[in-house]
Amino acid sequence: MARSTCKTARAIEAWFAANARDLPWRRDRTPWRALVSELMLQQTQVARVLERFEPFVQRFPTPLALAEATEHDVLQMWQGLGYYRRARNLQKAAIVVVAQYGGAVPVDVESLLTLPGVGRYTAGSIASIVGGHAVPIVDGNVSRLLARLHCDDGAVEDAGFVRRMWARATALVERSAEPSLLNEGMMELGARVCTPSGPACGGCPIRQQCAARQASRQHEIPRPKRRAASQVIHHHAVVIRRRGRWLVEKRPAGGLWGGLWQAPAVECPLELGVEAIVERVPLPIANAVRVDTLTRKLTHRTVHLHVYEGTLCKGARVPADEGLQWVRRGDLGELPLSSAAWAVLDLIDSH
Ligand code: SF4
Repeated sequence: MARSTCKTARAIEAWFAANARDLPWRRDRTPWRALVSELMLQQTQVARVLERFEPFVQRFPTPLALAEATEHDVLQMWQGLGYYRRARNLQKAAIVVVAQYGGAVPVDVESLLTLPGVGRYTAGSIASIVGGHAVPIVDGNVSRLLARLHCDDGAVEDAGFVRRMWARATALVERSAEPSLLNEGMMELGARVCTPSGPACGGCPIRQQCAARQASRQHEIPRPKRRAASQVIHHHAVVIRRRGRWLVEKRPAGGLWGGLWQAPAVECPLELGVEAIVERVPLPIANAVRVDTLTRKLTHRTVHLHVYEGTLCKGARVPADEGLQWVRRGDLGELPLSSAAWAVLDLIDSH
């Protein structure tokens, strides 16, 4: 029987074997389910992915099914997860898997890195957890765990710090008999025990080896990121309803909420008055009444959603444009809408 050769690796493997959460993508491990779950989990909390994962893989059970789907269907099944570029990348990756790998997701790092949306972390995760290869992974959770384990107080955005974490993850996995348990165990420990502000050292399987705990420095490591200035966007949405139907527009591809649907809107860096909004919305609006303002904090942006309700000028026709549609309220769920667009529509509903 294979044995771990490193005490730290052994402790993490044993802890994970006994404490792993029961998550849907762990129940039935296939390379395809691993790829889908990894892309969903990038920048998104597990609780949210739990709601969307099974419906997505049931709708697209194979790379071929996703490769052949329309973008509309893909975005619709991705609703609620945000960062829609990942959904497009996943579909592009499925197309490459079908074209170059006979429809089967590869499990070696080199091949995985040829897939759109798959970086070093995701490739390492699938190759180790599904393929059993002794390759490293470093994400935010693993990086924090390793920084504390070695009492490394470098700044997380420094290239040298990142290199050191990858080197440490590599050294550890190469001395592990169970790379899948070790890597997933480090992710899980970072997410549940060695958390950013409240590391629960008393229940940690590597507390004896942890240099930061011995130095009582676990709360100051790693050094927090210098905050980038957040971009401010004023999004002025004009909700227009007629005979039970709601007018919605498709956003341009790319950029914030690219390709998703929303109430007609004007965006700019400053808040506009109602006259300027009516002038800029490319529709003949007779009046617009302010309803409320909501604020959404995204990773690098703050978006103020100024919500108006308006009507079209008498006899006015909506320009024939495939980017504009009248949709019944009950049918809006058929379209991919961002959570911000839903918040705007829900606000009108509750008003
Ligand atoms: S002992 Fe504490 S600081 Fe060290 S790895 Fe464990 S939880 Fe993190």
